[in-house]
Amino acid sequence: MATTRDYYEVLGVARGADEAEIKRAFRGLARELHPDVSEAPDAQERFRDVVEAYEVLSKRETRELYDRFGHAGLRGGGFTPTQFDFGSLNDLFAAFFGDDLFGVGARATRSRGGDLGVRVEIELVEAAGGTKREVPFPVAVTCATCSGSGAAPGSSPVTCETCGGSGRLQRVSRSAFGEFVRSQTCPACRGAGQQIQDPCPDCHGQGRTVEERKLEVEIPPGIHDGQQIRISGEGHAGDGGARAGDVYVEVRVKPDLRFVREGDDIFATVDLTITDAALGATVTVPTLDGETELEFPPGTQPGEIRVLRGRGMPVLQGFGRGDQRVLVNVAVPRRLTDEQRRLLEQFARSADDETYSADDGFFEKLKSAFR
Ligand SMILES: [Zn+2]
Ligand SMILES: [Zn+2]
Repeated sequence: MATTRDYYEVLGVARGADEAEIKRAFRGLARELHPDVSEAPDAQERFRDVVEAYEVLSKRETRELYDRFGHAGLRGGGFTPTQFDFGSLNDLFAAFFGDDLFGVGARATRSRGGDLGVRVEIELVEAAGGTKREVPFPVAVTCATCSGSGAAPGSSPVTCETCGGSGRLQRVSRSAFGEFVRSQTCPACRGAGQQIQDPCPDCHGQGRTVEERKLEVEIPPGIHDGQQIRISGEGHAGDGGARAGDVYVEVRVKPDLRFVREGDDIFATVDLTITDAALGATVTVPTLDGETELEFPPGTQPGEIRVLRGRGMPVLQGFGRGDQRVLVNVAVPRRLTDEQRRLLEQFARSADDETYSADDGFFEKLKSAFR
């Protein structure tokens, strides 16, 4: 998405700024907003705008077009900002400046270890009460034999011959920005600047080995199906002692056939026979806290809803619980003996409108159940 802000304003330069001023402003902002450096939550967004502004103002044709016709002129001229992902940022800087923005040091930045994901499955009742799980997972750890260097004990890595130890190769290439020197990661040493001639026997030169680990994961009450719990720093080891990645535990909550969950509320149904419904009955219904007895008065109707306040799921990282709603279903006999048929026919003859008419307060009661 192209920004609609004024490009000069984005870079903080005057409209008459020369090439050198524009480049200087861009460099300064890029240093400040680079997502590897900036903590500001909107840094990525602002950085995109800055790159776009620089892309337009650093080239004579696009700058002229913009000066005369603004954003509409650029669009009319077929300009679209270059799309890039933040993973290729160093290449992007190499494109702009012919070398890394942060100098040689940035290349050697140790990369953080990878994240890893594991999945646990719990029952709905466990999700309601909160639970703990031992979660086994394989994780890459720094090799103890070589302390992560990848070189066999007694030997050490040697400087890469292909790149002379810089880890990068300079190449001339063309792009939307014109022709420039682009620096690429050295394929021989993959950017490390060093090569291992005598690899460590335990990790085969990788510097890392795989270890089976177990983590005790605390699952908070009220968790929803598919939510993830992040466990910081327990993921794969980073290169050369850099910070380890994180573990993401995805929690799957198994469906419980007795309940339907909707947010923090729980729905259940209860079956009353026609005689229970007509005469009144006490019935056992399941709740998340175990079974409970519910009393239904004579004349209970199908579709009535009984609300059990505070018997739903706990509010995740909050206070209180949702409600449980119990929907009344009235079971009508499907097969009758001759005797039962006779009794029902006799009942039907004795029944009149009064038998089925609702109390004055019935609809009020029903409405209050929904509140
Ligand atoms: Zn090793
Ligand atoms: Zn190399």
